[in-house]
Amino acid sequence: MQPRDFDNELTYLTHKQNGEEEAFHEAYDEAVESVREELGQSHGLQIEGEAVDTDSTFTVTSPGNQDLEIGEFAAGTEQDVDAAVRAAKEKFPDWEALDTSARVEIFQDAADIMRDRKYELAATVSLENGKNRTEAMADVDEAIDFLDFYSSEFERSNGYEFDTGEPTPGQHTKNLLRPYGVFGVISPFNFPMALVAGMTSGALVAGNTVVVKPASTTPLVAHKYVDILHQAGLPEGVLNLVMGGGSDVGQPLVEHEDVSGIAFTGSRKVGLNIQETFMELGKRGPVIAELGGKNPVIVSNTADIDKAVEGVKKGAFSFSGQKCSATSRVYVHEDVIDEFTDQLVSEAEELTIGRASERDTFVSPLIDDSALEYYQEITEEARSDGTIRTGGNVVSDGELSQGRFVEPTVVTDIPHEHKLAREEHFLPFVTIHPISDFDEGISKSNDSEYGLCAGLFSEDEEEIDQWFNEIESGMTYVNRNQSATTGALVQAQPFGGWKFSGTTGKFAGGYWYVQQFMREQSRTRVE
Ligand code: NAP
Ligand code: MG
Repeated sequence: MQPRDFDNELTYLTHKQNGEEEAFHEAYDEAVESVREELGQSHGLQIEGEAVDTDSTFTVTSPGNQDLEIGEFAAGTEQDVDAAVRAAKEKFPDWEALDTSARVEIFQDAADIMRDRKYELAATVSLENGKNRTEAMADVDEAIDFLDFYSSEFERSNGYEFDTGEPTPGQHTKNLLRPYGVFGVISPFNFPMALVAGMTSGALVAGNTVVVKPASTTPLVAHKYVDILHQAGLPEGVLNLVMGGGSDVGQPLVEHEDVSGIAFTGSRKVGLNIQETFMELGKRGPVIAELGGKNPVIVSNTADIDKAVEGVKKGAFSFSGQKCSATSRVYVHEDVIDEFTDQLVSEAEELTIGRASERDTFVSPLIDDSALEYYQEITEEARSDGTIRTGGNVVSDGELSQGRFVEPTVVTDIPHEHKLAREEHFLPFVTIHPISDFDEGISKSNDSEYGLCAGLFSEDEEEIDQWFNEIESGMTYVNRNQSATTGALVQAQPFGGWKFSGTTGKFAGGYWYVQQFMREQSRTRVE
């Protein structure tokens, strides 16, 4: 069967193609101004459609300017989680019983509201998590795509219900997928709009009710998303928002006896912990977890070096490497490694480091103090065990001193076995390793516990075929100068990991995602 037509949102690209880049920038700049005016407010939890205040709160500041307060947010407790889960449980039967088309319409309407408010939402993403304007808009675009794709695909598939006829006389049969009940959704900071929207809408479209806990650094975007769904007609209590720390709120959500399944995106450590908790408690529902990566790229001696440099630079340093898909280790044929590395170093030095909302910013700030400390730790280690070819320093010139800015870092002379070449960093830090033939590149790429994204630069058809067949990775990209490993589109480039990069083998934004939030039932009725 042919995949259906689906149009990705692609806001920036479309403006660029139509010669309307200035209009994009103007609309974004205006949105930043108006979002700044509304910052600094207090926000409660959202349980059964009501704002709930709590005894303690936490303050979020902008990573690029810590003097800018994003807001004050209610910090939930185990009791608040319990109230949210109870609300979700109570609403579940009615939500499951709602007509497929009525359910789908809510998500289509929410996607429309997000289209109308996309500049405001992108500006909010930039100010809250530090992502530059084109990346922030891509985050919002992806959220719209998730709502649109999951809901319309669910409708096109008739809610995953088949009439299987009368296999023997008098037995009338049906086969269908049904939701589990209440899902907990726990999201990371780095795609604060797309991942909150993607995971919650997967669960909700399927007919589950949800309690969502966003990353503590990005609650405002999650708040806006929940408001938009209510505005689009989502009944109160179907989606509830709790905020607060991972162990204060996330852990009780995972452990709650009425939470049937979890959708999680974040680090391997927390994700695997959630899976173990489920097993220990004897819970039978799914843990749909998207985890980290240590994404390898091979640059063959047949590669177009300009393309390879551009792809690695963008893959490693966009959003300061704070992407699960970030390029992190590059295996370069010894014939071309000097040329490749010199060019990468000089281009990395040209990248503009700055606040997210500045037009020219490529390298944006780090999310929190622990990321900054980790950067200092690994660059120190790289200095002693290898060679830092460029980068390795914190940047604090002028207004940048108010944020957490660091230089994009290119490192050589680190052995393939070294922990810097094996552990995920989530920072603008890439290691370059020589290989003497293509097979060595493939075996070193695969010698990792992760299997999220991988890239290849080669002009040789045989190498390309071999690589597609042998690389152990969920997403695979050949000769992609736009970015060697990052930037997947809903429907065409479903996103997920092999090995320790994911738990289900089914990918976000793909045709088999929503079914994971459901279980099968076969129905026989004799007449
Ligand atoms: P993280 O530290 O694992 O946090 C993710 C979420 O889990 C946050 O909401 C966090 O809350 C919560 N959490 C922390 N401890 C918890 C616990 N004990 N029980 C339940 N929840 C808990 O990840 P992050 O730093 O936000 O994001 C970076 C990681 O996400 C990287 O490893 C990256 O590879 C991964 N990621 C993967 C994908 C993918 O699709 N494969 C996409 C994006 C990111 P707090 O914020 O309150 O700590
Ligand atoms: Mg974290």
